[in-house]
Amino acid sequence: MRKPVIAGNWKMYKTLAEAKDFVEQLKEKQVDSNKIETVICAPALFLNSLVQVAKDSFISIGAQTMHEEKEGAFTGEVSGNQLQDLGVQYVVIGHSERRQYFNETDESVNKKVKAAFENNLTPIICVGETLEQREQNETESIVSTQVMAALEGLSEENVKNSIIAYEPIWAIGTGKTATADDANDVCQAIRETVLDGFGEEVSSSVRIQYGGSVKPENIEELLSKEHIDGALVGGASLQVDSFVKLLEAGQ
Ligand code: 13P
Repeated sequence: MRKPVIAGNWKMYKTLAEAKDFVEQLKEKQVDSNKIETVICAPALFLNSLVQVAKDSFISIGAQTMHEEKEGAFTGEVSGNQLQDLGVQYVVIGHSERRQYFNETDESVNKKVKAAFENNLTPIICVGETLEQREQNETESIVSTQVMAALEGLSEENVKNSIIAYEPIWAIGTGKTATADDANDVCQAIRETVLDGFGEEVSSSVRIQYGGSVKPENIEELLSKEHIDGALVGGASLQVDSFVKLLEAGQ
């Protein structure tokens, strides 16, 4: 059985006070960590404080990106080693906004995924197609190529422990969600790609999230699908009430 994982991606939202207040409120809620994994991926600036606030709770803290090198002259960047040192446990890698605005490529995603594992961080690896690619019927080939590139050279153990987030770019922040069946079909194609590359045991263990306008109104149907093991959530992760509803649906 794959445990669902619901991850909030806060992107560049909230002040430190708001971020701490959110985690303080969230940790008082009744969430069974045996049934669901809860992750908040916050701006790098807040990670140190949020790890302290979330201590001994069901909440884990994640970063939204990282650099692939351990250290060096990379002004403005943050390394996996630095994240691990703070007690951060997850890191989003290859989000479409990073690919679009910050030149992340399949190749750099692969390097970052490897660096994440070297630093005991669980990567949440994002893949997804543009609207144009979907209209050209290229979704599954685009997504499979991204998945294979991201996982290239990884051990079976590491692939098993990866989280893959299928986020169709046209569904991010637009209010347009893929239908649960369409999302499940692509998540199944991702699982088959992992099966081809790494075998049955790995493909049946790896967790695949859906992301893109996930909200309390659509989470249950998405999570009811065989190949969808959780969600990566932007907008609906910014308020405690709506985020808790997503966690409740997953338990
Ligand atoms: P929304 O949930 O706001 O569409 O964002 C999705 C996303 O990009 C999560 O990483």
